[in-house]
Amino acid sequence: MHILLVKVQQKILDDKVDELIICLTDGMYVSHLQLAANKVTALPVKNLVKAIALMLEIVAIQKDFTSVFKSMPLEATQLIAGIELPTDDHFAVYKQLKDSLLADGNLCDDAEVHLEIFRKNFPVKRPFFESYFRLWQQMQINKFDPSPRTLERLAYGTLNLLEHLVEQKLLHSAIYHLTDEDENLLLRYNQNRVLRIDELLMEGNLDAEHVTANHISRRLPCMKCGSYNMLQGYNDGTQNHKQFVAIGYQCNQCGMELFDQKDLLLAGIKPIYAIS
Ligand SMILES: [Zn+2]
Repeated sequence: MHILLVKVQQKILDDKVDELIICLTDGMYVSHLQLAANKVTALPVKNLVKAIALMLEIVAIQKDFTSVFKSMPLEATQLIAGIELPTDDHFAVYKQLKDSLLADGNLCDDAEVHLEIFRKNFPVKRPFFESYFRLWQQMQINKFDPSPRTLERLAYGTLNLLEHLVEQKLLHSAIYHLTDEDENLLLRYNQNRVLRIDELLMEGNLDAEHVTANHISRRLPCMKCGSYNMLQGYNDGTQNHKQFVAIGYQCNQCGMELFDQKDLLLAGIKPIYAIS
């Protein structure tokens, strides 16, 4: 990308990162306080929902810069096409680019567009994050009272997404240092996951035979009450190799839930099914 466009990209990123730091810091701090008191309000949820939106936007700006604008000014289109600048006055061009690209309302604020860019760029990570993205979407649409369980899941998803972006060098690790409470939350969440699923496995309503027998319908018996429910997930793959990727399971009868793909794997449920 032309250096002048990179400069504009950096300017947008700097602003987004500043906003992200505030949402993460406030959101996580209040989350820990409220989870400890077992009393949750909409405030930390709002901050974490915004933090996830900003992280997806930060991915989009770096992975697919041209798609984050509603309209591209002529100078930008020319630079992208490799057409020489008509002038040597780079500062003037930069100012023009910045003013037109950053004009009010020109940055795409459609979270779905940013989410699609994430899915396209991280197909291997998508199955894990998809359950948290669904929760995030629900939290954006429904203004229902959040429960401690919902807030904890949202916080866990937020921290995992942050770690992924740092790993991918899409965010600098210095923008947010995990606190002891953050580390504890991640540890507690994973420990509880193991305990919860061990308990379900002890009840023993789901055995390997059941899982194998129901690959095609993707209906599985609940490990608690035995009633059959569909696996949750999405279709993926190419035209010739279509597949269904399972990301969770919820029983309509007793409410038993395997929330994300890690839960499914721990319970021994196959996550990928060929679609013929
Ligand atoms: Zn059940």
